[in-house]
Amino acid sequence: MLKGKSAVITGGVRGIGFGIAGEFAKQGADLMLCYRSNDEAAEKALAQLKQYGTKVILAKGDVCDEKFAEESIKKAAEAFGRVDILVNNAGITNDKLILRMSKDDFTKVIDTNLVGTFNFTKYAAAHMSRKKSGRIINLSSVCGVRGNAGQANYSASKAGVIGLTLSNAKELGRRNITVNAIAPGFIDTDMTMALSEKQRELVLGQISLGRYGSVQDVAKTAAFLASDDAAYITGQVIGVDGGIIM
Ligand code: NAP
Repeated sequence: MLKGKSAVITGGVRGIGFGIAGEFAKQGADLMLCYRSNDEAAEKALAQLKQYGTKVILAKGDVCDEKFAEESIKKAAEAFGRVDILVNNAGITNDKLILRMSKDDFTKVIDTNLVGTFNFTKYAAAHMSRKKSGRIINLSSVCGVRGNAGQANYSASKAGVIGLTLSNAKELGRRNITVNAIAPGFIDTDMTMALSEKQRELVLGQISLGRYGSVQDVAKTAAFLASDDAAYITGQVIGVDGGIIM
């Protein structure tokens, strides 16, 4: 249970982030949901989370912007008294083969997925260090572990997230802050709906459990990592992938 805890979730109004928000709120946590531009999804998320009776606030901005990260953590700490959990979930893809990938295609994905994670971690870690307690959960991907054709930018960003997770776990452990990554396989969200039917079928054939993952599959794992039961788990990359990695 997460009663009395508070969490900041980047990209928290849609897809996996919203699934995590729902699970956290259900378990009693107050939430700040950060998002970039989709106001409609943000308002819908607020309305849906009301049923759990916890505090939920929104923060609109770009995770690539360090100032936005600093202000968001400050605002959440003021609103809830403290920030116990950070979920670095905001992420994008921009798939192309390397021969067709511009430098801008590459750096934009790195900026959002990796630098964005750095930005929020930096300010949350400073706050959590003062409290001598915290949980940081980063969304990586199976692509960060084994690579994927057409996703050099995305895979590099997600491999970077793993490196960041391990280094931060080593740096912050003595301050009672755990840092872990979740590496989902193929989860049914807007991100994967962007793939063609043929691509989706090809992936399905590689999943041992014979189904795509749901946001709930990832949300339950995040809630476990955020809970007291996971107090001695740090520096881990937890696959939630239906066996696609094998
Ligand atoms: P999604 O449905 O596309 O949602 C992405 C969320 O991130 C949105 O809320 C979006 O905000 C936010 N976002 C994107 N860029 C941002 C930025 N620069 N600043 C602030 N917010 C930003 O994605 P998803 O499928 O739920 O994926 C969530 C995370 O899981 C990502 O890190 C992704 O790489 C990872 N993952 C997903 C899968 C999968 O199969 N779906 C597999 C492995 C890993 P707006 O709502 O305003 O657009």
